[in-house]
Amino acid sequence: DVRVRFAPSPTGHLHIGGARQALFNYLFAKKHNGDFIIRIEDTDQARNIEVATDKLLRSMKWLGVNWEEGPDEGGPYGPYRSMERMDTYTKYLNQLLEEDKAYYCYMTTEELEKEREEQIARGEMPKYSGRDRNLTKEQRAEYEAKGIEPVVRFKVPEGETIVIDDAIRGQVTFEANGIGDFVIARTDGVPTYNFAVAIDDHLMKISHVIRGEEHLSNTPRQVMVFNALGMNQPTFAHAPLILNPDRQKMSKRDESIMQFVEQYQDYGYLPEALVNFLALLGWSPVGEEEIFTLDELKEQFSLDRVSKAPAVFDEAKLAWVGNQYMKAASLERVTELCIPYLQKAGKISETLSDDDHKWVTELVSMYQEQMHYAAEIVELTELFFKEDVDYDGEAKEVIASEHVPAVMNAFATQVESLDVFEADAIKKSIKAVQKETGYKGKQLFMPIRVAVSGQTHGPELPKAIELIGKETVLKRVQKAAQ
Ligand code: GLU
Repeated sequence: DVRVRFAPSPTGHLHIGGARQALFNYLFAKKHNGDFIIRIEDTDQARNIEVATDKLLRSMKWLGVNWEEGPDEGGPYGPYRSMERMDTYTKYLNQLLEEDKAYYCYMTTEELEKEREEQIARGEMPKYSGRDRNLTKEQRAEYEAKGIEPVVRFKVPEGETIVIDDAIRGQVTFEANGIGDFVIARTDGVPTYNFAVAIDDHLMKISHVIRGEEHLSNTPRQVMVFNALGMNQPTFAHAPLILNPDRQKMSKRDESIMQFVEQYQDYGYLPEALVNFLALLGWSPVGEEEIFTLDELKEQFSLDRVSKAPAVFDEAKLAWVGNQYMKAASLERVTELCIPYLQKAGKISETLSDDDHKWVTELVSMYQEQMHYAAEIVELTELFFKEDVDYDGEAKEVIASEHVPAVMNAFATQVESLDVFEADAIKKSIKAVQKETGYKGKQLFMPIRVAVSGQTHGPELPKAIELIGKETVLKRVQKAAQ
């Protein structure tokens, strides 16, 4: 049975790398009618952030990546938070200690640091020397008497080669000799990631461990733990790193792109768009098509189409995918998504009458085709909320043309006379201006567009004029006549 997991540490918001990892696991599980599990790996307590788990789970729900077993809903292999599994870890820790596959190490931070510096000075790869591997009872008692609290280290078997058949990267080998005896439990008895993860993956019957390449170097350690405890190892699959648009490794401080799922939600991206975009970060579909519903992704996803080469975060692709989904969504949905942004910006009132609602819907309908995410609506629709418009460079030239006052005066008279200020009537009045002044085409429409919007391009003119409203339009046209 396929059972896969996403095992975030609660150290902050859901990162796009984590989200992609969760998504790959989820898609793989669904493709194979398996289970997708969330486990919170919180044994590195210094790095835990109180609200992080809630935030992570909320972002996952927003994405629509659902799980069968997890910290809130429980399941047959719980608990699903590492810190609630201490008894289990302790049991296996004691087993390794008894079987002499692990040992107490009393080296202080200073001693370790010194050892490391000396190794580097000798031109060696720094690794724990194994000083405390074979301490006698007396030696241990001496350290204990000094009040030194030991960590537990795993005894790395000498001369072993660890082979991993990675479902994405193929065969990867590691020499155990290059790996120092690593810490599996801290002084307070809390296990480290590499120990806890192996035990949890085993007990939770995880069949495939799909995660980011940054964990590849941890994998031999986990394999050694499996071996030492006589546990079978799962199939590993390490997905490629995600690089910045400038092909650099992403760092958390980097602000060139939005790195956290919550930010996309804040900007009003459609979650399906982000899911689609994330799926394409390292995975490629068979054909040319790049837009997929979640169901289609479940159908199509496979590990053998996940690339070994790093995936580059392509902003143009994100914009394109975002736009595809905005265009395809219902006007109603896009409008509901946009309203809070207009409200927050103080453009529309907190409580909308039916007429207001209709007005906003029409406003959004003019821009939906070009939008990528909802927050954009505020900037796109600025001209509908201002008293006056400023003419941009090209617009200035249009308005300076000699024939403009004649067009403006005629149009102002038309506008004044309109009782029903709607697109159809406005269209007719522009026709009337044509008849009256003799100007047509660009010479007619451009000045009117610029006068009412300040821009030489924009949405459908009569509808825009309707939504700006008679009074404001009149003011703008009169100003342009001067
Ligand atoms: N807790 C680890 C992390 O947040 C999980 C790695 C894994 O999937 O094994 O990176």
